Formats: sequence, structure tokens, C-alpha cells
Amino acid sequence: MLKRVLIANRGEIALRIIRACRDLGIECVCVFSEADAEAPYLKLADKAVCIGPGPASQSYLSIPRIIAAAEITGCDSIHPGYGFLAENAHFAEVCKDSNFVFIGPSHEAMALLGDKISCKQMARKAKVPVFPGSDGAIEDPEEAIEVGKKIGFPLIVKAAAGGGGRGMRVVRTEAELAPAIKQATQEASAAFGNGAVYVEKFLEHARHVEVQVIGDSHGNAVHLYERDCSTQRRHQKLIEEAPGPGIDPKKRDDVCKSAARLIKNAAYSGAATVEFLMDEKQNFYLLEVNTRVQVEHPVTEMITGVDIVATGIRVAGGEPLPFKQKDISINGHAIECRINAENPDRNFAPSPGTIEQFAAPGGLGVRMDTHVVPGYRVPPTYDSMIAKLIVHAPTREACIRRTKRALSEMRIEPIHTTIGLHMQLMDNSSFKKGGMDIHFLERLLKK
Ligand code: ADP
Repeated sequence: MLKRVLIANRGEIALRIIRACRDLGIECVCVFSEADAEAPYLKLADKAVCIGPGPASQSYLSIPRIIAAAEITGCDSIHPGYGFLAENAHFAEVCKDSNFVFIGPSHEAMALLGDKISCKQMARKAKVPVFPGSDGAIEDPEEAIEVGKKIGFPLIVKAAAGGGGRGMRVVRTEAELAPAIKQATQEASAAFGNGAVYVEKFLEHARHVEVQVIGDSHGNAVHLYERDCSTQRRHQKLIEEAPGPGIDPKKRDDVCKSAARLIKNAAYSGAATVEFLMDEKQNFYLLEVNTRVQVEHPVTEMITGVDIVATGIRVAGGEPLPFKQKDISINGHAIECRINAENPDRNFAPSPGTIEQFAAPGGLGVRMDTHVVPGYRVPPTYDSMIAKLIVHAPTREACIRRTKRALSEMRIEPIHTTIGLHMQLMDNSSFKKGGMDIHFLERLLKK
């Protein structure tokens, strides 16, 4: 069992990890930047250590500073949370070499699944459906043209090291292919230091369906069912729910078992999310694997009763998973609304500043994961997400009603937030029917 965890993150996820440590009866140390010095959650950790100025490159992304903080505070392990260094295989390796348990997968498994080309090759071996496309990295545009002839357009050019939607180009005709490959390669080299790109079939109308999985170091891998995260803007998810509305039980079984097989074959320990796109006939194709805990993990916790963060800490300490696949079932429905400090009426411009009035909703089935308290100043330095409202109810219909009720109780003022937009979405007829695809929100916002 681990004894003292260093939390290499900030905001709501730092607080989420503090809570999991408390529930497990283990100690935790939080790092913080000068921009977060007043953050109230720091008082809930056993210790808090300043690791540098506001800019993440000098604090939350600084490997030497984080390792030094873990050393001076006597931690035995490091939790990366999400974002920042969470998917940096080099960081996972440095943690191990410095004798800290990295709470997540081995750096080898992270590198294997984090590279989209090797992940896709691994998926093919594990009989997980992938988009038809090139076998590996494209060396010569002629290869991509051959692929185009075989499987037809549109295609998408993607970077092996891609993230945040960078290094991607949709290509509709053969003539566009060579220039798109050139541009994507340049963009990927500049952004990720790895210019490898590949092509695959582009799906016009897709839902985003992802499967929560968790493995241990004893060769076990269990899935915790799927989430639908189709309500997104510029590849940023805004609403997530579990289970996916309208998914055929047979397809659910297929997609969830595929995801579990993939991480089992990768000898993966810890929490991961296997992301898929699903077409209108509910055929699914692997998108990528996120080798960390995700923002939207709470909806899965609500429907399965599994504490994903605590389980991740336990398996990192060497314990086997405390449950088997047959122990996991779906109970009701859960929806998460991301509350961002942004102004939807001004193209989602960030809206940092001091929160003078703050009231969190409550009642049965209502959970707020947030580090915000009245008087909290939202720094302009980091991601704009300030709270997650997670609502659980016996059915999707009841869950939507309860989400509306909870949103109506919430006050975060005077800054701008996405609360009003969530209210509108809960009344939207397509959303109510569960008929969202990944372009649904952008279409709605254009109206
Ligand atoms: P990143 O790691 O940059 O986020 P992903 O592989 O997760 O890249 O893809 C990001 C988004 O790009 C997807 O959510 C989807 O909207 C779109 N996309 C990626 N691949 C395809 C595809 N084959 N067909 C259609 N859309 C795709």
C-alpha cells in the first residue's frame, strides 16, 4: 500500500485526488504555482509545496521541480491527474528511475498506446475495430493515394503523436492529399517533435463513445461500461453521460469487451479510456487511448459505484483489482456538465476573475466536483473549467430533469459561465432524444 502521494496537478482534479487519498487513509502532498497560492483545496492536503511561478512550463510542467517536491516531502508515489504531465511517458520513466511509484501505467505501455500508429497496430492484433487506412506512417504521398483509391474519400490525415486536434487534415479529393500530408507533417513536427502521419477513412456523422477501463499489474482488465461525449465544441467535450443513449446491448457488449481486450494485451495497469467513433449503424472504430484518469470519469463512478481514482491508487500500489467483470453493472443514468469560466455569447472567450457569489446545488443524486468557494479568484493562466456538475437518476429522462433542477440552483457570479448554455441544452429536443453527433453542438451554436 502506498503511504504518501504527491499530487502533481491543480484545481478540481487535485481536490478529487486529495479526497480519494483521505478515503483510503493515505497522506497526500499538493504542489502549487504562485498563481494558485491562495487556492482553498491546498489546506485539505497534509502539505502543500510551491514549485514555481504561474506559467505551467515553470511549475506544473517542470519535471525536476515536481521530483524535488516529492523528495523533500517524503512521498512514495506521484499522481499526475489529467493534462500537464499525465501522458508524458518520459515523466513516468523519470518517476520510476527516481524510485517513485507513478500512479498510472508503465512508461512502456503509455508510449505504446500513446502513439496512435503503434496503438492502432496493437488494436488490430487484439481484434479491436480500427478505421481502414494506411498500415503505418506514410513515407510517400503515393502510398496515401493508393489507400484513397482502395477505400475511397473522404480521408483524414492524422499525426501519430497528435493531441488537441492538431496535425489533422480532412481530405476530400486525391489532389488535396499530397499538400495535406505535407502540412500535417510540418504541424506535427513543430507541435510534437514527431512528424509521423497516417491516413484513415473519415467518418462524416459520428458519435463519440468511449469506454472506461482499468487494469492491474496481475494481468486483470475490467471495463466499466461506456460514456457518450458527443456534445463537444472544437474537440472540447461539454457534456458527458453514461451509459450512451440508445446503444444496442449487443454493440455495448462488443465495444466494452474490445476496450478491455486492448488494455489487457498492452499489459496495462491503472485507469484508461479507449475512445471510439460510432457510425449511424453503431459500428465503432478506435480513435485513441487516453492513458490517464479523464475529466468525465465521475459519470461512470455514479452508474457503477466504483471509485475510479481510489482504485487507480490501489492498483499502482500493487493490489489486484478489488472487483471482477461480473461484479460491474449499470445502475441508472448519469450526466456531467462542464462549468467553464467562459462567455458563450462572445465565442467562449475566457472569463477569469473573482467569484463573489457561489452556490452549489444539492439533493439526491447531485454531485459537484469543484475547487471553487465564494471569493475564489479564477486565474487567467490555466484551463477555464471551474466545476463539474454530475447528476445521477434512475433513467435518462429523470436525469435530464434533475440536471435542469440542479443547474437552476447553481450561482456563480459575476463571471460568465456555461451554466445558461447547459440549461438550454437540457431543453433541446435533439439532446432529449439522445440524437447528438460530434457536430451537434457546433450546428446549434451557428443558428
Ligand atoms: P486528438 O488526440 O488530437 O484529440 P483524436 O484522434 O482524438 O485526436 O481525434 C480528434 C477528433 O477528430 C475526433 O473527436 C473527431 O471529431 C475527429 N476525427 C478523428 N479521426 C476521425 C475519423 N477517422 N473520422 C471522423 N472524424 C475523426
